[in-house]
Amino acid sequence: MKEFKAESKRLLDLMINSIYTNKEIFLRELISNSSDAIDKLHYESLTNDKINMQEPKIKIEIDKEKRILKISDNGCGMTSEELENNLGTIAKSGSLSFKEEKLKNNENAKEDIDIIGQFGVGFYSAFMVSDSITVYSKSYKSEKSYSWTSKGAEGYTIEECDKKEIGTSIELQIKEDTEDENYSQYLDTYTIQNLVKKYSDYIRYPIQMEVEHSKLKEGTKEEYETVKEIETLNSMIPLWKKKKSEINEEEYNSFYLGKFNDYEKPQKVMHVSVEGQYSYNALLYIPTHVPFDYYSPEYEKGLQLYSNGVLIMEKCADLLPDYFAFVKGLVDSPDLSLNISREMLQQDRQLKTIAKSIEKKILNELQNMMKNQREEYEKFFKNFGSQLKYGTYNDFGINKEKLQDLLLFYSSKEQKSVSLKEYTEKMQEEQEKIYYACGETNDKIDLLPQVQLVKDKGFEILYLTENLDEFVLKTITEYDKKQFINVCADELNLDTEEEKKELEKVNEENKEMFEEMKKAISDEVQSIRFTHKLKNHPVCLTSEGGISIGMEKIINAMPNDQKVKAQTILEINENHPIANTLKKLFETDKEKLKNYTKILYSQARLIEGLSIENPTEISNLICEFIANNE
Ligand code: ADP
Repeated sequence: MKEFKAESKRLLDLMINSIYTNKEIFLRELISNSSDAIDKLHYESLTNDKINMQEPKIKIEIDKEKRILKISDNGCGMTSEELENNLGTIAKSGSLSFKEEKLKNNENAKEDIDIIGQFGVGFYSAFMVSDSITVYSKSYKSEKSYSWTSKGAEGYTIEECDKKEIGTSIELQIKEDTEDENYSQYLDTYTIQNLVKKYSDYIRYPIQMEVEHSKLKEGTKEEYETVKEIETLNSMIPLWKKKKSEINEEEYNSFYLGKFNDYEKPQKVMHVSVEGQYSYNALLYIPTHVPFDYYSPEYEKGLQLYSNGVLIMEKCADLLPDYFAFVKGLVDSPDLSLNISREMLQQDRQLKTIAKSIEKKILNELQNMMKNQREEYEKFFKNFGSQLKYGTYNDFGINKEKLQDLLLFYSSKEQKSVSLKEYTEKMQEEQEKIYYACGETNDKIDLLPQVQLVKDKGFEILYLTENLDEFVLKTITEYDKKQFINVCADELNLDTEEEKKELEKVNEENKEMFEEMKKAISDEVQSIRFTHKLKNHPVCLTSEGGISIGMEKIINAMPNDQKVKAQTILEINENHPIANTLKKLFETDKEKLKNYTKILYSQARLIEGLSIENPTEISNLICEFIANNE
């Protein structure tokens, strides 16, 4: 007997002792696997003459006495190595750590089990209803056939067996009933018929089972007899080819859960049917949560691609732009050639047209959601908003027109997220620019001196808390002919001409003092000057030119050698008592003036959320100051 790998063992334990109420999904999982296996064999047969495809079929058999439920397919089968690798371990190693993360965050045992259906645990779900499982399999690649048996967590054995036909048979030894659980129902023809209808109706291959019927005996008018007939239980119409009016939400959701290995129903379903030069059907889903591997390099975007119901590619990346990488789903087009290669697909005009049409569909759907289901949209934006921002910023903003109206930013006035359109529609007449401010959190931004000033004038400010935000706005450059302006920028122009003149005069008068002060912080700032824009605050730091202080922080935090520096200006509130102190010191004690300048500059940096390069020196200066003022 071989032991399961540690991860698989844990998962099996969970499955066997599961209190998961939805145990019946095991049938859907096994049937999906069978259907995939037939797909695979078919796909292989396109390029391998030796494969002699039989008529594809999935068979269900029930032996009530022995309590055995058997599911067989004539798909690709598994070699002994594949049995070992596919059923002895959980291939997708991320899934368990993800689950454990969930367990930690969640005391509720019932929700823990929601990971069932998570990538790679499909087959194991059969242990929820079985005492033991035997898999008989013959691969198209192998002369020999093998069986795999397991009673659960202890381990499994693999032996040679005498299965003749290519394919796989899975025998479940169904558990005895308990007080809480009726396992015998899975040996009941009627229940199985219903479960197939409920979960697997769309499977393209016939799912067949022997069903008993009561029939009029031949030659009689009243005598009935019971006959057994093989029946196909599923309609075999792929879900995406059915009319929308014939599909209910449950079917859409259940299809998604089974097909895309999620444990939570999707936030949004889009069912698209396009007739025209190129016809296609598509089922597109937006997940309710960020996939656990979304930000890892393993995450692959793409849609399943079918040609008239036959799978031709598992993940066709060309069908989705990067900024919609979160969308899961499939596309079926009757016009695509069956054995088209990947390289050819990329060139395919038809595929490009379909991709464009899909992109438009998703865009529309998101716009509608923003308009009509705001709360839902905000949830979506929390999950995938960054992706849309990247899309706006990437490739020098080539897609900004498409995406800018889907973005949300926190508004100082509304105290919730607003779109750029909502912002500009409410702008006051005299307001010429769109104000924004950057910082770590909304609360911190709210405390910036410059923010206070703009708020006092009655203007709305967008608070940017994500690293990318300011770069995104710089890429958009203007919206509705209004430019964006950082409230911490030097050119923030809120003064009247008169005020400006007065300030210029004051600054001119004190020019020499500022030059003296600048010696203390030498290259650190572009210039030093008085300002009237700070109400009670003594100092602030503003920036000039294309790189803001926030951008400097972000660019320099990135792992490359390119360091940038924002051109900064130290502004001192002329109406603050400190201004007079400085003026006096310029006459009496230049050394002290320089030391105070260092302190003021450090303060301005700290307010901006920047670090100071010489904290010890500053600390000493402040202590000296305190000591002298005792
Ligand atoms: P998933 O289907 O999500 O990959 P499963 O645990 O359900 O995870 O199955 C693991 C693997 O076992 C499958 O990916 C497939 O390679 C193989 N497998 C399962 N059932 C069959 C089958 N009926 N025929 C061939 N291979 C199968």
